[in-house]
Amino acid sequence: MSNIFIPVSEPNITQKEVDYVLDAVRSGWISSLGEYISKFEDKFARFLGVKYAVSVSSGTAGLHLALLAIGVGQGDEVIIPDLTFVATANAVTYTGASPVMVDVDPLTWCIDPLSIIKAVTPRTRCIIPVHLYGQPADMDTIGDIARKHKLVVIEDSAEAHGALYKGKRTGSIGACGVFSFYGNKIVTTGEGGMVTTNDKSLFVRLEFLRDHAMSKEKRYWHEELGFNYRLTNLQAALGLAQLERIEELLEKKKQIFNLYRDLLKDVKMISLNPQVSWAENVFWMVCLLLDKRSPVSRDEMALKLKQAGIDTRPFFYPLSKMPLFKNAKNVNNPISNDLSARGLNLPSATTLKLSDVYYIAKTIKEILS
Ligand SMILES: *Cc1c(COP(=O)(O)O)cnc(C)c1O
Repeated sequence: MSNIFIPVSEPNITQKEVDYVLDAVRSGWISSLGEYISKFEDKFARFLGVKYAVSVSSGTAGLHLALLAIGVGQGDEVIIPDLTFVATANAVTYTGASPVMVDVDPLTWCIDPLSIIKAVTPRTRCIIPVHLYGQPADMDTIGDIARKHKLVVIEDSAEAHGALYKGKRTGSIGACGVFSFYGNKIVTTGEGGMVTTNDKSLFVRLEFLRDHAMSKEKRYWHEELGFNYRLTNLQAALGLAQLERIEELLEKKKQIFNLYRDLLKDVKMISLNPQVSWAENVFWMVCLLLDKRSPVSRDEMALKLKQAGIDTRPFFYPLSKMPLFKNAKNVNNPISNDLSARGLNLPSATTLKLSDVYYIAKTIKEILS
């Protein structure tokens, strides 16, 4: 066993983050009122080019709130990709609606528009494309399908802060965008999230439901079920500092991916993240996809990298394979199954040293030779 340890992910915290958080603590505004919250929300909305941004306690809370604001509930169906983090499906389940997992597109690894069309029923209310590992989904085609069938689109942009779809930021295209600020995401607040929208009425509903659905006119008066999904001023202070550095963080992600790509470009039996002409991937995670004919399996690759001190993560399991969703419809999604079995996340932290990328690439080549 080596004494090297290169993590898959690590937060990138500088003096700026420390200063802002200390300032927030010292101000006494440590709960969910305070100026960092509105500064963070305003700056996030401006960064995305949307009218409204509502901070929330997690990305999962953000998805739940967005679905509730749209009015999704019992008896409805929500179409999501099979290959995603469980939070996308869980948020749908919380509302009483059923998640319908459909296959992904082999080109983008994101939800496949043709599979959406096949899954639409009279009960379908909403589609949640996920911009997986930083790669934008095919939003124009998804938007056309949604308009035709009168469905609402919520973008799960938890892994794609700053990504571009035809020049527009992901999270600014659907009725709502949802972001996560978990510790391994491109911008972090520890735990936290954001819901973005251009729709005033959705914005009003989001703020209302986030804060116990308390009447605006009458304090402690509640006419419907609400939630405490608020972000704290301390978390927003951390988030604002991160957001002020987002160009630097995105540049670092790109630099890391480009170096991996250059060092591994002649290696047979592997490929990396998708890149398409109409979108800009932010490479939240650098992904290694082993060929079907690779002599080394994904799990063998992960084990050998671990022995060299290199941490990795397997791709998400298809949600439809989990006992939790054993009653879901559309459970045969071959592309999701195949990618899930062959994909591995490599160290991708913005704190990663370029010399580590050389070491990782060299180790991958040795394992495959
Ligand atoms: C991280 C993530 C979430 C949930 O975020 P939390 O902040 O951890 O609740 C949702 N969807 C996807 C695709 C994610 O990667």
